[in-house]
Amino acid sequence: PNSQQQQLRQLYADAAALFQHILLNTKLGETALAYTQQRQLSPDLLETFNIGYAPDENNLLTRFFAEKKLDFNLLRHSGLFTENSDGTLRDRFVDRVMFPIKDGQGNVIAFSGRALTKRENQPKYLNSPETDLFNKRDVLFNFDLAKAEIRKAKQVVLFEGFMDVIAAYRAGIKYGVASMGTSLTNEQLYLLQRATEHLIVCYDGDQPGMKATNRVITLLHNDPRFQLSIVTLPEQLDPDEYVKKYGAERFRDVLTGGMETAVGFRLRYLKQDRNLDNEQDKLTYIDAALHELVNVSSAVERDIYLNRLSDSLQVTYEALVTQLQDYLVDAT
Ligand code: ATP
Ligand code: MN
Ligand code: MN
Ligand code: MN
Repeated sequence: PNSQQQQLRQLYADAAALFQHILLNTKLGETALAYTQQRQLSPDLLETFNIGYAPDENNLLTRFFAEKKLDFNLLRHSGLFTENSDGTLRDRFVDRVMFPIKDGQGNVIAFSGRALTKRENQPKYLNSPETDLFNKRDVLFNFDLAKAEIRKAKQVVLFEGFMDVIAAYRAGIKYGVASMGTSLTNEQLYLLQRATEHLIVCYDGDQPGMKATNRVITLLHNDPRFQLSIVTLPEQLDPDEYVKKYGAERFRDVLTGGMETAVGFRLRYLKQDRNLDNEQDKLTYIDAALHELVNVSSAVERDIYLNRLSDSLQVTYEALVTQLQDYLVDAT
């Protein structure tokens, strides 16, 4: 079984090298290479992340490995192919820019392929299925390169997408990682926990991104292992778009200076879609906001939020405190 894993590792290393070669050195890769340039992936970045291209070229990978006379079962269970009805194999990744997914030691264990051209019924990103090597719950994109940087910076930034991690890297923030298109798992938190306690969430600034941020806050609620900070980018931009639009320096500024606490984010998030001119909506919001504050153990921090609420809602500070006291008593 161990040598099976080793063979699988070799298969992924060979596939990654082939995809890289096609992107960088062949006519087949020209369009994809132009695309990566347009997305500001310099030759250095392509090399650092071993980015490649899987062309639409008559099952190129299938034919490449067929020549090597490898064990059919190895290929079949590798996740690199899909099976035809007659049992033969065909390439799983077609016309996609290939991002190798690596384990903590930097070995390629899976791919995520981004569609180069939009096709109907084709997802924008296609991930390898799980294999003996790849359990997506255990993996953070870029953790192999980031872990030393995380320890050095004493913080880690969580991004939504691979392109966001790479854009941050380009901007000098090398302690960023992303989960595999799923929400954060306990296994991933365990990896992070050993590297740092300060977790910065910088998801896309759009509604799905804020919703996902809110989920992370709920997941880590009262988790003593981590201190959470939230960065919300303006104009619904994602980090990659932000770096492209405003440059590396401003991105670094937002990341270092634009952090808010989890509770600060939550108070803002709860306010969305509510019309505070409507009395009922306003009361519902105040109720929800005060329930958030029940969990804030620092009196000073609580005071800051209470003042903020009092100012923005035009309710007296005293009334808010009185109400909060009731909730605090209920909670004990
Ligand atoms: P790009 O900038 O290349 O358009 P993105 O990273 O901004 O991509 P989003 O739509 O914001 O893409 O999605 C964020 C992340 O979610 C992606 O990077 C990818 O990891 C994951 N993801 C998106 N769509 C899918 C999908 N269909 N299957 C699996 N994962 C996906
Ligand atoms: Mn998004
Ligand atoms: Mn995005
Ligand atoms: Mn994007």
